[in-house]
Amino acid sequence: MEICEVKGCNQPGQRHHIVFRSQGGLDFKLNYKYLCPEHHTGNESPHKKKEIDLRYKREMQMELLALFFEDTYTLSQIIDLIGEDKKKLEKKFRKVPNVAGLYKREDIVRALMGDRTY
Ligand SMILES: [Zn+2]
Ligand SMILES: [Zn+2]
Repeated sequence: MEICEVKGCNQPGQRHHIVFRSQGGLDFKLNYKYLCPEHHTGNESPHKKKEIDLRYKREMQMELLALFFEDTYTLSQIIDLIGEDKKKLEKKFRKVPNVAGLYKREDIVRALMGDRTY
């Protein structure tokens, strides 16, 4: 059981996709945030308040930029670092620009954020 990640909340959490699946978000740990029902879909939640949604997305983007700190990565390195959903990552990265199989960190982060930046 995961606990709501909102500071001081401590209620049981539901899995939220920071980049929604409808926005191209994939299933991997950095795209998950555990939120109780109120913090997930209530008035002060990313599904109701644009600022909260954007804050979570920017935090995730910073975490991805910290994770991918080198200039370029191969697909297998990307898969190792993300650690999940190999098939979907392979499919996703077929459309991402690369030079001889090397992907730039900006392009990797952009792809993982749903083909845009925040
Ligand atoms: Zn959600
Ligand atoms: Zn909560």
